[in-house]
Amino acid sequence: MSAKKRKPVLVIGLGRFGGAVALTLERMGHEVLGADSEAALVQEFAPQLTKVVQADCTDHLCLKSLGVEDFEAAVVAIGTDIEASVLTVLALSDLGLTNIWAKATNDKHARILERTGATHVVFPEQKMGERVAHLLNERLLDFIGFGDEFAIARLKAPEAIVGLPLVTSDCRRKFAVTVVGVKRGTEDFIHAVPDTLIFPDYELVVSGRIADIERFSALN
Ligand code: ADP
Repeated sequence: MSAKKRKPVLVIGLGRFGGAVALTLERMGHEVLGADSEAALVQEFAPQLTKVVQADCTDHLCLKSLGVEDFEAAVVAIGTDIEASVLTVLALSDLGLTNIWAKATNDKHARILERTGATHVVFPEQKMGERVAHLLNERLLDFIGFGDEFAIARLKAPEAIVGLPLVTSDCRRKFAVTVVGVKRGTEDFIHAVPDTLIFPDYELVVSGRIADIERFSALN
């Protein structure tokens, strides 16, 4: 890791979602201040984050005393207690933060968060639910949807294109998907180019409309 730390991030709520966000940011080299009202969670995360505090983050003065104005970004990962989530976002926004990410549990919650100052609202449960539904199609190994129609997916190379270079299988024209990267066995992914020859043990990363990716993954 480089000596220079990336920008500090405040993560409020160290439940399953907030905990994962905080630990990933810390691994990426950010300084993370994790805050939660539960003493047990604060203790659990203390050895793993730059700093942790036990605090009720709906309290404007408490946030001020933590020096939140100095943070370029905050993640409000309180989902169940909607009132606490909204009041925390409002307090951060009142203190001048302009990069506030907040977790929403439903559309109404999201609308209130946006009105109170959240700049990015995420729906982790919904997103993961959609993802699992697509992954139940066992040919898809990973899936990220963008809106209702478009996605990027990792999948086993369909038999129909095995043994051919991509220029010949012409996936974009014939199947309406773009092969972005390929990976053989335990090797890393590399960019796909027209000459890339597809072997039976290849995994592909493709982009396209969801329906087209599903059709492409089922080709024999
Ligand atoms: P998850 O499903 O990701 O675990 P929860 O909404 O259940 O999400 O957890 C949110 C976390 O936020 C909990 O650990 C809870 O203690 C914490 N939390 C709730 N209210 C506050 C608050 N006012 N200030 C700080 N942390 C809070």
